[in-house]
Amino acid sequence: MLTAPAPTTVAAITLDLDDTLWPILPVMERCEQVLEAFLLEHAPAVARRFPKGAMRALRDSVAAERPELAHDYSAQRRLSLERAFAEARVDADAEALIERAYVTFYAERNRVQLYDDVADALPALAARCRLLALTNGNADLSSIGLAQHFHGAVLARDVGVAKPDPRIFAHARDLLAVDAAHIWHVGDDPELDVLGAQKAGFRAVWINRNGLPWPYPEHMPDLIIRDLAELGRWLDNLPSD
Ligand SMILES: [Mg+2]
Repeated sequence: MLTAPAPTTVAAITLDLDDTLWPILPVMERCEQVLEAFLLEHAPAVARRFPKGAMRALRDSVAAERPELAHDYSAQRRLSLERAFAEARVDADAEALIERAYVTFYAERNRVQLYDDVADALPALAARCRLLALTNGNADLSSIGLAQHFHGAVLARDVGVAKPDPRIFAHARDLLAVDAAHIWHVGDDPELDVLGAQKAGFRAVWINRNGLPWPYPEHMPDLIIRDLAELGRWLDNLPSD
């Protein structure tokens, strides 16, 4: 006997942020420039000892030495600054300067340029179902001016684990209080977003803005889209249940 396919239910959407709503590489490049300019002005000994490339290497080595901070880029950045100030032997007002350096860096972190489709697509998606941000990064939706479209945000640094760990998806599911099978996670990263979400029982949407081939033919996403406008059209065409 044939059974009708189960209706596709989309109770909520969890959304990755970096490289899903905006490109992250130009943001990080500007963050490094702004940090370097701040240090040149306020702590030139640190800037001389740790120009951009050296500061990046220092941050990478802090990340490698402290795997327990892998989910917390803010903590990694602060620790890198502390280490840079200590190695450059800048003691006077170091704590206050480190905090100002971090604040300067973090303000730039939240100056993102949305992909073209995002400004129109987000309110349309939010009108249809709840949106929850689910990110390994440390972007702040309020500072960016997008918080009004979201039910909330799940950040790896708050949960203590990062995607693809199923526990961060479980945390999102608990916040949304709906069955994982009715939550659709949208993200650009095949492993972190798509395989991670599916392992946690979510449906997974790969946003493939660059037209790349899907790398795991044996584990297909539930849906592949080019941008969020396409996701909106797909939702509009779902049969209503
Ligand atoms: Mg991403």
